[in-house]
Amino acid sequence: MFVQELVLKQRAEILHALCSSGSAEHLERVLDILLAQEALVWEDYQNIQVPGRALYTNARQLLDLVYTKGVDSCGLLLAALKQVLPEEQGTGLSFSGWCSNLEEKEEYQSSSTQTLVTQRPSLVSKLQGCIDGALKTLVGSGHFTSAECDEVRLPIHTPSQQARRLLDHVRSKGESAAKLLLQYIQQEQESALNQEKLTPPKEFLKYQKKLSSSVSAQSCFLSTYGGTSHMSLDDIYTEGQLELAQECVDVHGPLGLEHIVGTAGMVNEEADTVLVSGEAGSGKSTILQRLHLLWARGAALQDFLLLFPFSCRRLNSEQRELSVQELLFQHCCWPDREQEEIFQFILDHPHLILFTFDGLDELKQSFSDEHRLCCPTQRAPVHILLFNLIQGSLMKGVQKVVTSRPEAVGPLLKKHLRKEVLLKGFSPSGIDCFVRKHHSDSTVAAKVLESLQTNTALLGLCHSPVLCWIVSQCHTELLGCGEGSPQTITDVYLMILQHFLQHQRPLKSSMGLNWIQEHLNTILHLGQLAFEGIGTTCYIFSGTDLETCGVTEKDICMGFLIQSKDMSSTHSKHYEFLHVTVQCFFAALYIVLSNNTDRATMAKLFELKDISGTGLSSTCFGVCMPSTAQQEQVLEGEPTAAETPNLQITATFVSGLLSQRHRSLWLHCCPNAVMDKRVRQVVRCLSKGMQKHFKSIPQPVEGEKKSMHAMPGFVWLIKCIYEMQESRIAKDAMSKLEVDHLKLTYCNIGPVECTALAYVLQHLRNPVGLQLDFNSVGDVGVEQLLPCMHICNSLYLRNNNITDEGIRKLIAKGIQCDNFRKIALFNNKLTDACTQHFSHLLKTKQDFLALRLGNNNITEEGAKQLAEGLKCNHSLQYLGLWGNKIGDAGAEALARALESSQSLVWLSLVGNGVGSTGACALANIIKNSTSLEELWLTENCITRTGVECLIQALEHNTHVKSIWLRNNDLSLEEIEEMSQRESRLIF
Ligand code: ADP
Repeated sequence: MFVQELVLKQRAEILHALCSSGSAEHLERVLDILLAQEALVWEDYQNIQVPGRALYTNARQLLDLVYTKGVDSCGLLLAALKQVLPEEQGTGLSFSGWCSNLEEKEEYQSSSTQTLVTQRPSLVSKLQGCIDGALKTLVGSGHFTSAECDEVRLPIHTPSQQARRLLDHVRSKGESAAKLLLQYIQQEQESALNQEKLTPPKEFLKYQKKLSSSVSAQSCFLSTYGGTSHMSLDDIYTEGQLELAQECVDVHGPLGLEHIVGTAGMVNEEADTVLVSGEAGSGKSTILQRLHLLWARGAALQDFLLLFPFSCRRLNSEQRELSVQELLFQHCCWPDREQEEIFQFILDHPHLILFTFDGLDELKQSFSDEHRLCCPTQRAPVHILLFNLIQGSLMKGVQKVVTSRPEAVGPLLKKHLRKEVLLKGFSPSGIDCFVRKHHSDSTVAAKVLESLQTNTALLGLCHSPVLCWIVSQCHTELLGCGEGSPQTITDVYLMILQHFLQHQRPLKSSMGLNWIQEHLNTILHLGQLAFEGIGTTCYIFSGTDLETCGVTEKDICMGFLIQSKDMSSTHSKHYEFLHVTVQCFFAALYIVLSNNTDRATMAKLFELKDISGTGLSSTCFGVCMPSTAQQEQVLEGEPTAAETPNLQITATFVSGLLSQRHRSLWLHCCPNAVMDKRVRQVVRCLSKGMQKHFKSIPQPVEGEKKSMHAMPGFVWLIKCIYEMQESRIAKDAMSKLEVDHLKLTYCNIGPVECTALAYVLQHLRNPVGLQLDFNSVGDVGVEQLLPCMHICNSLYLRNNNITDEGIRKLIAKGIQCDNFRKIALFNNKLTDACTQHFSHLLKTKQDFLALRLGNNNITEEGAKQLAEGLKCNHSLQYLGLWGNKIGDAGAEALARALESSQSLVWLSLVGNGVGSTGACALANIIKNSTSLEELWLTENCITRTGVECLIQALEHNTHVKSIWLRNNDLSLEEIEEMSQRESRLIF
């Protein structure tokens, strides 16, 4: 489309994307770029940025101007928008290939004032850390007055806005001020470099260039699909959700890639290793790849001069003992000359070097810190080098980023971590974004998204990027299957199996064979390879491995195996599965279909392991492995923690494949009686596993509820039962569980797990309190939980990324559930919009007991809405609004509604900006109430007047036990005096 038309047509969307956040930052960054690119002249800029005028008006002015300037300006505008807008905001916009090169002009500018404009974007960023210093210099030289400094430093401006104001002021002062500022910035940069005493030798710089072009070449295409599809990372990369494992006060909002190596959330300053952990397929390799690419392009991690990427999967194949120097140079990039000099520079400047290790869980050996090594030239087995690098005894000061699945990270390793970042897959908007990027045809994308909306179980699965990829890849099958649309993980993998098999060789329906039968040999060959690999922690296979399992050229062509790149030490071809989960799936197919599977194999597969323990009791699969040298290795080899997650995934697939729903697929592939037997074996294993859990439940202390805190593996068993999709099995598993409270905190529960939990827990005999605090349930997960709401008497969902939309659905269902009495939603993403639903709940359910909404974003308006419900409610005992913003007006509204409550026992308005007006209103509750026992008003701004009201009210009330008033606006003397007058006030 003609680019001017594109701008005109998308006017409303562009305005929205630029202004809807209320912050001028996006617009200003676009202006910086357009000025630097000379798409706007200074007068244009002044006409757009009129001080005091509404943001939308400024943005409209920009669009008008750019439009009248013609095609080039419009093209540059689209390119600038693409660069500036966060991915999610930009997805609705079409840039139609307008992503011209926006590099700043390097050539020397004729005047300093002009340089201020042409290099504006980078000057804004360079200035942010040194505005005070720059102002001081300008005042010292007489260019600036102190009033002008104050104007620049106005606290309402963000640092980047301050930098822009500074640049604008300096420009208006003329050439000499501009020159001085540029000199100052340059000095700052140089002194930063000098502090590093940085004088890299020439050969080092050449090496740096060589390394960065090799890293760039390795990372520009999604690595997973090797030869199968050349998908550029730029085109497909979608932001995943990152979280710090430990809460951190200095990080607000979502984490970005830059936070991975940054200092935010650091728990151990001494350590050099950052761990990025996430489930299989959550995008760990891809995020590292993204970091590599951005570094190689100079777009991120520029504090590091060298970045050495390693794959633990590849390191497994290194049989030789190596020194660190050999590891770096032989596995990453070979210096053409002066190896010693380059390595010495690396040793002298460890803080300028970054190592990344992908897939620590795939290393054959588990982490240990027994063999200490500190000499970088001493040779050792590669895993020993790696462990010493991670713990910092080797190459102290070099930063390392390691990825792993969470299960494989024991306390021993945690001790050496600088911080841990959790990768939680795609957010709902991430799924949307990914699907749109995957399909260049927007109608197909829209259809896929529509079908996901109608199948929320599948939508839940798509939070895992690898499943999102499969679903997008198999869109034809997905859109064609209507009613039978996939529900379980096994369904999704069967879909890709069918997709690959049939796309390679379209179904001829020869002799009435079904597609599995037709490809049975391929499945069994690949299955055996996968199965043996899982048993021996082997993910890269040689030609001989393939031969042993009968894998032929034709089998390879099906596309499940890809050629391993980067096996620099060998010249023969090596292969790996598309993804480790695909390997697990084939291993499961083998277990289900091969003649070698016996009862012992099943039992071992489903055996519950103590994954946090030191080792695993026995090796899996030994029993049915053909007697080869490899088998002996399996039997004798020390098992690693890495086995368990893969075995769990395999077992989940086995359960799914043996589901009654898929029985027709195996007809004629395996005798019915054998299949029946396997199903019985799995069902027995699952039932035994569950009972083992139940037996571990301690007897309740007298007077307390019987509570079960899920042990590792409980959620996995639940997921296996879900895969089987037979309610009889779920019912049977739950018939023996008798608890009052089921605690599943910090269990990594996302939407997928919620689907499985609801499927199984709905069969519980008696209502329970379901505690899911500190997971990643989200709105999609909430929706998945609805089928089990009727057995929940209380629902704890603290810290789960839930928004008002999730609450709307939850409450609509909760109102119909007789048992539902309590809810806790501390620290989610709730605003005033959710309060109308709670209000409705309170009006409707006259047996509702506890509502806890702490640390959300509820204001006076929300409190007023809640008050409407509270007025009509006669049952609520606990109301928690800690850490919201209801203020005096909100407190007054609540007080009026609760004045005559005879049920309220506990009320918390801690940290809500409540002053004395609010406190006096709340005193009215105290005057009348015969039920209230505790009132929490800590961290507000109540003065003496307010406390006097409370004291007076307490004179008429003997029920209230305590009123908490710490951290309010009271002097020490006042506190002293008032606590003597009323001992129930706690200061
Ligand atoms: P992990 O290393 O955690 O097992 P991967 O990084 O291999 O996961 O991701 C599996 C697949 O999921 C990738 O091949 C890719 O198709 C998709 N994927 C993962 N993360 C992203 C992302 N951020 N953007 C786009 N696709 C992704």
